[in-house]
Amino acid sequence: MNKKNILITGGAGFLGSYLCKRHLDAGHHVICLDNLQTGNINNIKPFMDNPEFEFVEQDVIDPFDAPVDQIFNFACPASPPLYQADPIHTFRTSVEGIMNMVKLAKKYNARLMQASTSEVYGDPAMSPQVESYWGNVNPIGIRSCYDEGKRSAETLMMDYHRTENLDIKIVRIFNTYGPSMNHDDGRVVSNFVVQALRGEDITIYGSGNQSRSFCFVEDLVDVIISMMNSEDFIGPVNIGNPGEFTMLELADKVIAKTGSKSKKVFMDLPQDDPTQRCPDISLASEKLGWEPKVKLDEGLDKTIAYFDSWLQAND
Ligand code: NAD
Ligand code: UDP
Repeated sequence: MNKKNILITGGAGFLGSYLCKRHLDAGHHVICLDNLQTGNINNIKPFMDNPEFEFVEQDVIDPFDAPVDQIFNFACPASPPLYQADPIHTFRTSVEGIMNMVKLAKKYNARLMQASTSEVYGDPAMSPQVESYWGNVNPIGIRSCYDEGKRSAETLMMDYHRTENLDIKIVRIFNTYGPSMNHDDGRVVSNFVVQALRGEDITIYGSGNQSRSFCFVEDLVDVIISMMNSEDFIGPVNIGNPGEFTMLELADKVIAKTGSKSKKVFMDLPQDDPTQRCPDISLASEKLGWEPKVKLDEGLDKTIAYFDSWLQAND
């Protein structure tokens, strides 16, 4: 094995902590840079005694220097209520964060992956979404700090690639869920599962007829690592599970699986909430030979089991 120095920004978060574990298990040296804004120190506690793991508590906006071979730039809150809580900082995280990472990658001739998002398609006018679709994004709304920050990061990556031959990878991640999401993260799967297990009302925003496509975390981490180690393919590439469900269907599944007595309650739909989202994953399948294996039912069972034991220990 060719041991690498791997920087994972946002490494204490939901996806980042899976990336830390996979790379440590594979024998690499991992630097996790995280300001713990939405991440959880418990996600990385199991690695703290590993001599191959370094935790740097720092904002990605601030300069950082260490010799690295690969950079996974995952620092950024992903939950809408959390990224909207400090929108200016969210925008700076994407824009100034990627600027720092591009400079670091250039200095050490490292490969840089950006965690982009299905949000670059905004409220899509076509479905499923293909990578060639330019999207339908409100540049001045409450989601724009996230959407436009991520779009800008893609722009900077592509310009550095074209002008300086920077070794880049762009993955557009669709809604991903699974064990070790924060119980109060605010995203729909964790909200519904925790509400159902506690017997609280299930909060449906709007009519509940808006759709999302949910990818189980282990499937997503597989393709992220395969993308990082692929050659002659920079992306952008959609990664996610094309199984599409309405929020009402999701709520009904969670209620049935938990046997909960929770009732569905309807609340205001947040501004600019996309009406549909479904990835076309033909490109990932063609270039990386990947497709997700875990269906929503199986992934929900694992996620419910995780939150059930978490709530028993912490509630
Ligand atoms: P998360 O909130 O669990 O993790 C983000 C991590 O980044 C946290 O540990 C947080 O503390 C850290 N962070 C945030 N701002 C930072 C800053 N300025 N400096 C340093 N660290 C900072 O979210 P996640 O679901 O793990 O998402 C990880 C990445 O993947 C994000 O970039 C997100 O935009 C992207 N993404 C995730 C999804 C998804 O469904 N999970 C979908 C699309 C894109
Ligand atoms: N949602 C909901 N109830 C909740 C949380 C979210 O109905 O308690 C809806 C939200 O309005 C959106 C979808 O679920 O239509 C997915 O929301 P999430 O925040 O998980 O991710 P998004 O895809 O919007 O970034």
